[in-house]
Amino acid sequence: MADQRKIAIVGAGLMGAGIAQVFAAHEFDVAVFDPMEKARASLQDRIRANLEVLGDDDVIADRVHAEADLKAALKNAFACFEAAPEKLELKQAIFAELEAVADPQTLLASNTSVIEITKITARIKSASRTLGTHWWNPPYLVPLVEVIPTQRTAPESLDKMMALLSYVGKKPVHVKKDVPGFVGNRLQHAMWREAHALIADGVCDAETVDIVVKNSFGVRLPVLGPIENADLIGLELTRDIHASILPRLHSLEGPSPVLDANIAAGRLGFETGQGFRDWTEAQMQDVRETLLQHLQSVARNT
Ligand code: NAD
Repeated sequence: MADQRKIAIVGAGLMGAGIAQVFAAHEFDVAVFDPMEKARASLQDRIRANLEVLGDDDVIADRVHAEADLKAALKNAFACFEAAPEKLELKQAIFAELEAVADPQTLLASNTSVIEITKITARIKSASRTLGTHWWNPPYLVPLVEVIPTQRTAPESLDKMMALLSYVGKKPVHVKKDVPGFVGNRLQHAMWREAHALIADGVCDAETVDIVVKNSFGVRLPVLGPIENADLIGLELTRDIHASILPRLHSLEGPSPVLDANIAAGRLGFETGQGFRDWTEAQMQDVRETLLQHLQSVARNT
């Protein structure tokens, strides 16, 4: 019988550590498997650093243990969250191993950002306990988790996962079809495609895109979603706007050529200090700090 207070995580990176922190903060024992010694050795310290910034008790980190042995990590776990690199073959292999070592009733979830869960779990026999759980970074500050059952997921597995995530204070939503990118990333990247195309077409510069979003509909977004917004302004007006604008929006099927051009020029983003925009060290630090403070203040007020 799985222990209700034990959670297993596969992958001790950014998301694995953050998800571990969420469960540990709610008094679960968390075992985190990672094949890399460096990732295992730094796990508790990275969680302690997060806790310090949040002003949370550092005893939370003591409930998280790094494991070099997958079977030991999975022992008695109620649920396992896979947060390994975003590669289909790797995730398929990990799920095959999980099926071999996990207790039969342990829920097996993937934190993939965009890959269909049906593909990741294609070779699994006991697929009734598999599903997707798409957390957002950082998991301990962003409320949403998209929960994606496949056609082979048992309804009880979905119910148990929704209840577990609610219990640890997350906002789980049921995504009814296993489509690439689920709901959040499809919406997010639809906007990024148009942003890149506006820059490529010379309609505005990169900085202007961010100024426009942050000072217009971005101000309303935390309290007014796009569907609420359409209902608020009325569906006839929405239809008139869409009839005029949708045929003129970009529909490029692959990444924008401006992305390719920047990458070819070595402009990779914060990693190189230049991306779409040029960044000083101080500016990059300011972006990171402002984001963290904003997420903390949202978390405090919800
Ligand atoms: P990461 O690179 O920070 O961490 C990945 C970890 O997996 C590393 O510690 C690595 O050592 C470990 N790993 C490598 N091979 C492994 C194996 N065979 N078995 C187990 N662990 C292995 O990556 P991340 O940003 O934490 O992303 C993990 C997953 O979460 C990806 O699927 C990613 O798409 C998804 N995701 C990421 C974000 C984000 O903002 N970073 C948000 C949502 C979802």
